[in-house]
Amino acid sequence: MDINYQITSIKQGYGDKVFWRGTLLVITPQKYHKSPKKVAQYVQYKWRKRLIELKKAGYVPVRKSFVFARNCPPAGVLTDKVAKACKLQKICPFCWGRRVTFNVFNRLNSTLFHGKKSRSKSANKIYFFVNIEKYDSLSVAIASAKANRKRELTALLDNNINYDGAAITTTIYPAKGKVEVRRFGCVQLPKHIQVVPETVSKKYVLYKTINKEELVAMTSNMTRYPVELLRCNPSVATEYLNALKRFRVNSFYGNMYNLESY
Ligand SMILES: [Zn+2]
Repeated sequence: MDINYQITSIKQGYGDKVFWRGTLLVITPQKYHKSPKKVAQYVQYKWRKRLIELKKAGYVPVRKSFVFARNCPPAGVLTDKVAKACKLQKICPFCWGRRVTFNVFNRLNSTLFHGKKSRSKSANKIYFFVNIEKYDSLSVAIASAKANRKRELTALLDNNINYDGAAITTTIYPAKGKVEVRRFGCVQLPKHIQVVPETVSKKYVLYKTINKEELVAMTSNMTRYPVELLRCNPSVATEYLNALKRFRVNSFYGNMYNLESY
């Protein structure tokens, strides 16, 4: 039986803002955006509808835990009831938030801000890049995504630029008949760096210092929910989800990996 969650309040933390912008609003049509409750309800409706489609398409993890997944508690809001999360984070928007978005934001927030400062320390430059590649085959795309996970980091070292830490988020989804691999990274570079060589990345932003609103904007883009998997043909989505079963979305390096030092 479906749990009828009542939303009691909208979470307002910076990490929640990242999740709202990068996931809930991405899924929901603009006409609902003024009402956060309607947005959360719409995402739950879409998720429950998608579960029926995935079940019919034969996606095994959904067949195994259908009722459980339908009742996965909404993220980004507080509700009157509690239930366990479904952990289908490759496709469940709420678990995407809990396991992908918050993981990235919390690490960047504690590494760049060391607590509650409103601007990050200027001991580093903060470099965000995005690289989108298109492939014809899903298996080739996944193999390339794995092989290229550290491509920009390796290119930095090749240019004699050492980095203190990095977070890389890679998503793979169908787009216009192609397979798209989107790699979004945040890297802490030495203070003296003025530009990033073209051989590393062409599309990037380099911050001298960063404030929390800027970090929210960048990380919501970085952890954008792959909404294409929610909208595409259910059998295509099932093929992607099966192939991506063991694929790692987030990777952390250097001081972003060893967070206990902060
Ligand atoms: Zn879930």
